[in-house]
Amino acid sequence: MHQACALRREGHREVISFSPKVFVPVTRLCRDACGYCTFAKSPREVDSPFLSPDEILDIAHEGAQAGCSEALFTLGDHPEQRYRVAMTALEERGHKSTVGYLAEVARLVQQKTGLLVHINAGILSADEIGLMRRVSVSQGLMLESASTRLCQKGGPQYGCSSKQPHVRIEMIAAAGEQAPSDLLQLPRSVAVSHAVEERAGR
Ligand code: SF4
Repeated sequence: MHQACALRREGHREVISFSPKVFVPVTRLCRDACGYCTFAKSPREVDSPFLSPDEILDIAHEGAQAGCSEALFTLGDHPEQRYRVAMTALEERGHKSTVGYLAEVARLVQQKTGLLVHINAGILSADEIGLMRRVSVSQGLMLESASTRLCQKGGPQYGCSSKQPHVRIEMIAAAGEQAPSDLLQLPRSVAVSHAVEERAGR
């Protein structure tokens, strides 16, 4: 942490910046079920597995008119791997995966609104990271914890395959390995959640 603070001071002094952003919840379905999550819903709790392109554009336009400069795409992790209804909805839109649909609607928002697209789509393969890079200016991933404690039986991430720390660390490394290509140089934000550990009394 001290080293990170020193690097930040060296590069940016004490300047704090922020980007006004509008959240675009493309889907609230998720293959995982973290015990603390207030975002993910079951198919019975949502009107449709995915927001339509028109609904997404409406949200983005409203954000742009309110002064936002960024559209933050937020969504559950690969819901089609858990819910048949999600896969069917994707197939009806001509896609085989949530990430494929995400690429379509992210490009649409970029072209129609001029907002900068930031994507938090959970665990992505190297190919998916590259695909997202073509339709966004940056991507984010929540590491949450480098310890497996939260994934153990009785923990809030028990049974959540995407929350295994090694899976997240491997994705961060994969994103870094793409950097040598100009096209794929990849601004990323990695968040570490203290709240989860603090609530667990650590
Ligand atoms: S992976 Fe994210 S969206 Fe899915 S249940 Fe966990 S916290 Fe919620």
